[in-house]
This record gives sequence, structure tokens and C-alpha cells, in this order.
Amino acid sequence: AQKRTINFGAGPAKLPQSVLLEAQKEFLNYNNLGISVLEMSHRSSDFSKILSTAETLLRELLNIPDNYKVLFLQGGGSGEFSAVPLNLIGLKEDKCADYIVTGTWSEKAAKEAEKYGKINVVRPKVGGYTGIPEPSSWTLNPSASYVYFCSNETVHGVEYNFLPETKGVVLVSDMSSNFLSRPVDVSKYGLIFAGAQKNVGCAGVTVVIVREDLIGHTLNECPVVFNYKVQASNNSLYNTPPVFSIYIMSLVLEWIKNNGGTAAMAKLNKEKSSMIYDIIGASNGFYVCPVDDACQSRMNVPFRVGSKEGDEALEKKFLEGASQRGMIALKGHRSVGGIRASLYNAVTVEDAEALAAYMKDFLKENQ
Ligand code: PMP
Repeated sequence: AQKRTINFGAGPAKLPQSVLLEAQKEFLNYNNLGISVLEMSHRSSDFSKILSTAETLLRELLNIPDNYKVLFLQGGGSGEFSAVPLNLIGLKEDKCADYIVTGTWSEKAAKEAEKYGKINVVRPKVGGYTGIPEPSSWTLNPSASYVYFCSNETVHGVEYNFLPETKGVVLVSDMSSNFLSRPVDVSKYGLIFAGAQKNVGCAGVTVVIVREDLIGHTLNECPVVFNYKVQASNNSLYNTPPVFSIYIMSLVLEWIKNNGGTAAMAKLNKEKSSMIYDIIGASNGFYVCPVDDACQSRMNVPFRVGSKEGDEALEKKFLEGASQRGMIALKGHRSVGGIRASLYNAVTVEDAEALAAYMKDFLKENQ
């Protein structure tokens, strides 16, 4: 395989090399049609096969029950956290929803939802986002239409490793940054969505997995392209879908399947992230991850260098040195600073080992 830069970006993120090579091979001439997927009608039989392959693989990989629809929509993660209240807040007359806010993405989702109903923010921001509040302290509204949470906060590196208990209220999860990184019991959720550009493909397509009985309560003002009922009854083809993004996703799903599925991904993701957290933990405070141990993300590892607050000059040096070793996109999100290593499915154990080795060297040289 060609030597490539190691990309620890948070999204768009690294894709498996075999997927890129396959897409390259088929780029000009897909399936001997003499045209590219980019140029293909979304109503052609060849694209229908790509779409149904993507759905079949997703259903298989996540063991999605038959009473759930799988939709392939546009608008990204943000489009979808806007579509959620438009489609679900009307499930109950009160138009209320609970949002468990543990970082930037659930915060933004709650803010958007406030346009459409009464939103109970279960955890208003207190200082930084470094953990998940103790579930016994959550004050959930039993007559809420749904409870919303973000399974992995990409900016802050806060990840759930338990299922929120909602006492029968519909559970909605943004899994954009940990989708297919581990097995999930879909039957416990009313709705799961995920933008593709982190763990399952490139930007342009967002997967929505939604229980059938929740479809059909859409608010009038919902744009038609986000209306689950319309999209579900048109097999996600009410309007032109992002054909190439769906094609890339189907290749990634096949790659996940061929590499052992979500259980195998979970094992590798644990191994990669533990490698980095172990170095942070053993660094005597040279590297500091601000997140509580119990919810440190396997996908996005944020840390400061030099001290708890971060020594910015040292962090700059860290990033420059990484770049010289062929490792890029390690800069933390602009809202939090520091370093962030994203270790999605396509990031290999060898990639993580390269980062680990660099972190050890950098510690020795700069402590
Ligand atoms: N949710 C999560 C968890 C994310 O990480 C992101 C993007 N980083 C979004 C939502 C928003 O996605 P998009 O940029 O595709 O709108």
C-alpha cells in the first residue's frame, strides 16, 4: 500500500485505504457502465443496487429490527438534529423534550429544538464539559415526547458507555462520531442518527434509523426533505440523494463487515484509545485529559500538554513535531484548544502506535 499521511482528524476523517482504492478503481467506469457513480441517475437500477446494499449491510451490522426504517438524508449532523424536533416533538400534545447536554453538539441540538417546543435542558452548562452528570440527578419529564442525548461528544471527548434510562420515553441519540464503533441494541432507541464523515464514509449523507410508529407526527413547518414520512415512503428518494456519499458508505460498510463487524471494531477502538490514555495517565501530569475516567471517549481523545491548562507553546511544538512525523489534524477544536486525537474505525492500531511512540518521545524531550 502507498505510504500516506496519518490523519487523526475529527471529521471528515480517515477512510480505509482499501475503500479509497476501490473507489479509485471504479471511479471512471463503474460496473462497466462507462460512467462514474457521480454521473449516475439516482433512479437507475445500478444506483438502486448501491442504495439497497448500503441498507442491507447496515441492517446486518447493527441487527436493526424490521420495525425500523433506515433513511439516507442530507443536511449533515446539524440538519438532522434540526429534523429531530420537527419530526418528533409533536409525538405528544405538550411538545416537550428532554435534552441531556454534555457538550457542544447536544448543546447546539437543544438550542435548535427550542424553536419548536418546550425544551428541558437536563444539564445546563456549568464550567467545561468534562463528564456526564450522575443519572440519578437527572430530572426527566415523564410527559416529554423524547429524551435526546449525544452518544459521543466529538469536541469534548465525552462518551456514554451506558444507556440512559428514560422510563419508557422515546430515546433519541446522535451517534455521528461513534456510529458502528461498537455493537448497539437498536431496539432500545426510538431514533438514531449519524453523519457519515467520521466513522462510515464521507460528508454528504446522514443515516437515520427510526422506529416506524414514530413516523407521521411531523410539524407543518418541517421542510419536506426532512420529513421522515415523505422520505420513508419514497425509500429516501423523494429528492436527489447524495449518490456518491452513499456509494462510499456502502464500501465502508462492506469493509466493516469483512473486518469482523461492530464487535471487532469495538475491540480495536478500545485497544487504540487505551494506548493513548495509558500514556496520558502515566505522564505525571505532562499530558492531561480533562474528561472523567468513566466517560473518556474511545473516538476523540482530547488532552493538554505541559499542564492542566495547557502550555500553548509546547502544544504548538507538539503539533509541529507530529506533522514532521507524518501525523496531522491533531489540533484540538478551536473552542477548547489543546490536542485532540480522533481514532475512528479506519485509524489502524499501527497509526495509534505511531502516535503513542511520538507522545513518549515528546514527553522525554520536553518534560
Ligand atoms: N453531531 C456530532 C456528534 C458531531 O460531531 C457533528 C460534527 N462534528 C455534528 C453533529 C454536526 O455535523 P455536521 O457538521 O455534519 O452538520
